[in-house]
Amino acid sequence: VSVLTNIELAPRDPILGLTEAYNADERATKVNLGVGVYTDENGKVPLLECVRRADELLASDRKPWGYLPIDGLKAYDDAVAELVFGDVVPRDRLAVVQGLGGTGGLKVAADFLHAADPSAPVLISDPSWENHKALFARAGFTVASYPYYDAATRSVNFAGMLDALKAADAGTVVILHACCHNPTGYDLTPEQWTQVRDVVVERGLVPLLDMAYQGFAESIEADGAAVRAFAEVGIPVFVTTSFSKTFSLYGERIGALSVVCSDADEAKRVLSQLKIVVRTTYSNPPTHGAQVVATVLGDPELRALWESELGAMRERIKAMRVGLRDGLVAAQPDADVDYIVSQNGMFSYSGLSKDQMVRLREEFGIYGLDSGRICVAALNESNLPAVVEAIAQVW
Ligand code: PMP
Repeated sequence: VSVLTNIELAPRDPILGLTEAYNADERATKVNLGVGVYTDENGKVPLLECVRRADELLASDRKPWGYLPIDGLKAYDDAVAELVFGDVVPRDRLAVVQGLGGTGGLKVAADFLHAADPSAPVLISDPSWENHKALFARAGFTVASYPYYDAATRSVNFAGMLDALKAADAGTVVILHACCHNPTGYDLTPEQWTQVRDVVVERGLVPLLDMAYQGFAESIEADGAAVRAFAEVGIPVFVTTSFSKTFSLYGERIGALSVVCSDADEAKRVLSQLKIVVRTTYSNPPTHGAQVVATVLGDPELRALWESELGAMRERIKAMRVGLRDGLVAAQPDADVDYIVSQNGMFSYSGLSKDQMVRLREEFGIYGLDSGRICVAALNESNLPAVVEAIAQVW
C-alpha cells in the first residue's frame, strides 16, 4: 500500500468534459456553446490588434526574462488600480497583486482571508461560477449560498438575496459578481447594488467582487460602478480582476487581486501578507501577459484601440442575443424570450431543461451545460440558424 493506492478517481471537470465530447463529435454542424470563451464571427478566439501591437513593441526591445517582484509588475498593478478604482481610492490605500488569471486572484484572496479569520464562512450566489465553491472549500472555508436566480420569473430573486445577506454573521465573506453574472447573465440594477452594499456594511460582511468581464455588459466605466460603490464607503473590499476575456489573453493567465484598505499603513501590512501567500504558492507571477496589458493600458493610443475592440466584442454578443431571440420568435411567435436580450455578458441561462440540453447535444451536436447555460459569445452568423432550429425542435 502506497500513498497513491487509495487515491480515488476525481470526477471530470463538467465543462472540459463537454469540450472533449464536442471534439470527438464528427458532425460538421456541431457547435460548442459550453466553454466560456469569446469567439469572433469566424468562430475563432480573437487576437486583439492592441495586444498584437503591444507584443510587437515588446519584441522590438526584447528584455531578458528575469523574475518579477512577488506582487507582480509595478506598471501592471498600477494600471489595474487605475482601471478598477479610477480616482475613488488613492493608490496608497490599495494592496494590489498580479494574479494568475482571475482564478489566481481568487485563490490568493481565499488563502489570505482564511488565514485572517479561519472561522468565517463564505457565501456564493445560487447558482455561481462552478469554481467558486470548489476553490473556497479547498482553501478551508465552509461555503454556503445566497438565493440569486429565480427560474419562475427568469430574474434575480433580489428579496431572497437581501434576506440571506441580512441573516449572515458578521465577518462572512460574500462573493459577488461585479457584472455579467456567470452563469445566469442577470445583473443587479444600480439601486439594488446600493442596497446590497448597505446591508454588507451594516452587517459587517466582507465583500469580494469577482470581476471577470469588465466592459462586456455596458462599458468599462458602467461595469465598474458596483466595485466603486463598495470602494467608496471605507470598509475592506476585495476585488479580483481577470483579463482572460476582455483582452482575449486566456492562456497568459493574467489577472489581479486588489484590496481596498483604510489607510496606507494597513495597505502595506495587507500587501506584505498577500506576498507571503504568493511566495509560498508560486513565488512570483509570469512576465508576458502583465507586460502586454501594462503596455496597452499605459499608452493612450493602444488603450483607445483596446476600448474599441472590447466594445466590438460586446456589441457582437448583443447582436447575437438579438439574432437568437428573433430567430426563436420567428420559429414560435408566442415564445416569450426577451430575457435573452436583457441578460449581460457571455452567458445566457436559456431556460432549457436538462433533458432539452441533452437532446440538443445528442440529436443536434449543440453543446451547452445541463443547467441550460449557453455561451452566446460563441454564436455567429454561420452557426446561429442551426442553433435556433435545434432549440425550436426541442421546445
Ligand atoms: N470568475 C468568474 C465569474 C468567471 O466567469 C471566470 C472565468 N470563466 C473566472 C473567475 C476565472 O477567470 P480566469 O480564466 O482569468 O482565471
